[in-house]
Amino acid sequence: MTSNTLQQFLMTNLDDLKEKGLYNTIDTLDGSNGAKIKIKGRELINLSSNNYLGLATDERLKDAAIKAVEDYGVGAGAVRTINGTLKLHDELEAKLADFKHTEAAIAYQSGFNCNMAAISAVMDKNDAILSDELNHASIIDGCRLSRAKTIRFNHSDMDDLRQKAKEATESGLYNKIMVITDGVFSMDGDIAKLPEIVQIAEEFDLITYVDDAHGSGVLGKGAGTVKHFGLSEKIDFQIGTLSKAIGVVGGYVAGKKHLIDWLKVRSRPFLFSTSLTPADLAATITSIEILSNSTDLQEKLWENSEYLKNGLKKLGFNIGESETPITPCIIGDEVTTQHFSKRLNDEGVYAKSIVFPTVPKGTGRVRNMPTAAHTKEMLDDTLAIYEKVGKEMNLI
Ligand SMILES: *Cc1c(COP(=O)(O)O)cnc(C)c1O
Repeated sequence: MTSNTLQQFLMTNLDDLKEKGLYNTIDTLDGSNGAKIKIKGRELINLSSNNYLGLATDERLKDAAIKAVEDYGVGAGAVRTINGTLKLHDELEAKLADFKHTEAAIAYQSGFNCNMAAISAVMDKNDAILSDELNHASIIDGCRLSRAKTIRFNHSDMDDLRQKAKEATESGLYNKIMVITDGVFSMDGDIAKLPEIVQIAEEFDLITYVDDAHGSGVLGKGAGTVKHFGLSEKIDFQIGTLSKAIGVVGGYVAGKKHLIDWLKVRSRPFLFSTSLTPADLAATITSIEILSNSTDLQEKLWENSEYLKNGLKKLGFNIGESETPITPCIIGDEVTTQHFSKRLNDEGVYAKSIVFPTVPKGTGRVRNMPTAAHTKEMLDDTLAIYEKVGKEMNLI
């Protein structure tokens, strides 16, 4: 017998979502998540992945993963602190520290987990966190978990941040104060104003925390947004994911050795959850090596992004103010945006619509994620389809 209360809760809420058109159905891919994907037997140009450099399907990473399975098996066997730390974990962490230009790094099971782990290892109920209002869900949850007072500041508004840092400091209520921001904001593709944030942090002795999930592998010759601004020495916490540009799965925190030592004894996902598998580790190590030795893939990514952005702009679409490969095509009205995305799909382009409440009302957009793996031909086909659907719907 299952709970009636639960059953009622689920049915009511699922029906409610479906009525409001907010119930998300998931498209399963028939094969890999490359520049083209297959869904229900149809081939589509894929502009929705975070696989920025095409490494998720790279032969070198696949070979490394297969070899690691043969050498180490398929699982780490225990949490890191018991006896689940393999040589590959140490090797990855050393490579990540080099890659990020920091003293040390610690790997986690995901980027999401990093934020569950790192914030609450340092912050508690006697502290305050200044958090950009557009920060990622995992940052919001990580802040909650720490029980520190979360103070939201207006998106990338440095006057508001300074004012709130001043108030929090002068209130005398908090032992420690941290400022947290995404490095690159995923909905608009804008970059955090890190030089100003560092300046304010120095003024008020704030702890600095940058989650660079969308910047690593993309900005700063690969090393990310912090390196892009030459601030590697000035940011306390650099968070990254291994699932986006790096192409595999996992996450990491890079910083000073004392910080990483502390996270290894105090962060709960490290202590109480088994770590990455040998295949993940070996593929990730290979990925970091590729990025450390060459910027070819990044150059291709930026070239493709410029090509797509220019093409969409020339057609008359509003592509917002993105400073990174993330290319929103802003349609406005929610229903029109969803219809536009569906028509693109009918014609062969897979680009997801993003609408309220993920973005403000009236700024519905189709978000395009070009990668290094796209060919000019695919991008030309994409632009032709955008033109056709845009004209058909009187949007251009
Ligand atoms: C994607 C993302 C994450 C989550 O990373 P995963 O490795 O997929 O868990 C965390 N933070 C930010 C800012 C992200 O964009």
